[in-house]
Amino acid sequence: LKQINVAHVRKWMGLNRKNIRAPQAISTICPHCGERVVFTTRAHFHDEKRESIACTGACPSCSEYVHFWAMDPKSSESTQEEDPETIYMSPAGDMEKEPLNFSIEMPEALERAYLSAVEAHGTANYSATALCCKQAMEKIFFHLLPEDKSSIGLSEAIVEIHNNYDLARPLENLSASTGSGGKLDRHFEMETEFNAETSKAMVELLEHLITYLYVIPQEIENIEDKFEEAA
Ligand SMILES: [Zn+2]
Repeated sequence: LKQINVAHVRKWMGLNRKNIRAPQAISTICPHCGERVVFTTRAHFHDEKRESIACTGACPSCSEYVHFWAMDPKSSESTQEEDPETIYMSPAGDMEKEPLNFSIEMPEALERAYLSAVEAHGTANYSATALCCKQAMEKIFFHLLPEDKSSIGLSEAIVEIHNNYDLARPLENLSASTGSGGKLDRHFEMETEFNAETSKAMVELLEHLITYLYVIPQEIENIEDKFEEAA
């Protein structure tokens, strides 16, 4: 199952006597053929015990069937045209991409370029996606470089970052803080009181380290392999 954005419902209908708000047309990327299409759904079933509406649509491009479930649907008798909480789709497919909510403040131009890339992909405009991704990559690297380097190419910019930007600084800071008497060391040695906030922060630190040292290098390699295969 995959959750899809309720905003992707293009048309609603009222189901049975209670006039339950049910999705009728849903725009999404087909998990079978990868095209962005509008599924016109039928065979709606209101499962009152599970508070959900199930329906099915055939892809107008490849004719394969996709099933949808709208959770917690609203009756128009009880509420004002309120949408269901969530909609799930099966099979899941893995082509759709929702924008990530980054937990940090990003340069505005980078955020815009990233969102444009996600949007271009979402509309199955793949050559535009490539263009937006290149622009976003330039924003990622050039933002960290001094302005007099703005005329070099992307590949050179990455080398510049690699040579001049202290990518290992987070690790140096961490090394200092886990050393004897460091901030983290005092937590490890139980000299500082632990509370919900510091405990959560500690687990998050683990997650960031796993992402930084294991996930990111491996994922970039996997993606490089994917481009190699497609070349
Ligand atoms: Zn299809």
